[in-house]
Amino acid sequence: SDHQLTYPVSPESMDWSSYYPAFVSTPPGSAVEDSNAATDGVRKLSQDVEVADIGCGFGGLLVALAPKLPNTLLLGMEIRTQVTEYVQDRIKALRAQNADTGLYQNAACLRANTMKFLPNFFKKHQLSKIFLCFPDPHFKARKHKARIVSTTLNSEYAYVVRPGGIIYTITDVEDLHNWMVQHFDSHPSFARVPEDEQEADECVSVMRTETEEGKKVERNKGPKFVALFRRLEDPEW
Ligand code: SAM
Repeated sequence: SDHQLTYPVSPESMDWSSYYPAFVSTPPGSAVEDSNAATDGVRKLSQDVEVADIGCGFGGLLVALAPKLPNTLLLGMEIRTQVTEYVQDRIKALRAQNADTGLYQNAACLRANTMKFLPNFFKKHQLSKIFLCFPDPHFKARKHKARIVSTTLNSEYAYVVRPGGIIYTITDVEDLHNWMVQHFDSHPSFARVPEDEQEADECVSVMRTETEEGKKVERNKGPKFVALFRRLEDPEW
């Protein structure tokens, strides 16, 4: 159950400083920090989170992408408490092991039910990429409303992703793949990324090989269905 989950009332009130301490723009004790704290109590980062891994599981994608995108802040969002804590510990250990280079400071994980309140965490057009890797399939028709791709949720993704940004999807369940393609294709804010462009994107191979589910499917010699969708410009009225 997610009853005890807390959410920021707005993106501006979200305090990211404990998630990305190396990116806090106002060092502790500085005059700027004191004045910030006096106004809203939130320590600001020098840049915004730009990449979200929704239902990140054990964090394989996050820790593989972090060194490849060292100047981008990546966030894993996971509903299971113990799994979230595992990813947080994993990142903490990687940060300590790489203290000399500063790698992994750009990755973090928080516990959230992303089907609720995504716009509480992210401003309009804040994100450049969202990953939906091996989402729970919820096979039964009466469970389809629990799928993390739907007309309503796609409108939330469209709100938080900037025009030109990409939604990445991968699954081993063909029915879910078709469902995701159908829902993004029919949404006016998204268009499918052509296959040649998809295969040239280095995040796609990371998604196939570095996610824990991707590795499991590999061991079982199962299929992997990939689809990417570009966030389109909003029409002018
Ligand atoms: N993305 C990972 C991977 O590819 O290895 C994990 C895939 S796992 C099958 C699906 C994950 O989504 C689980 O860890 C589950 O707890 C998480 N999840 C399901 N619903 C969620 C929600 N509403 N908000 C956040 N995480 C969710």
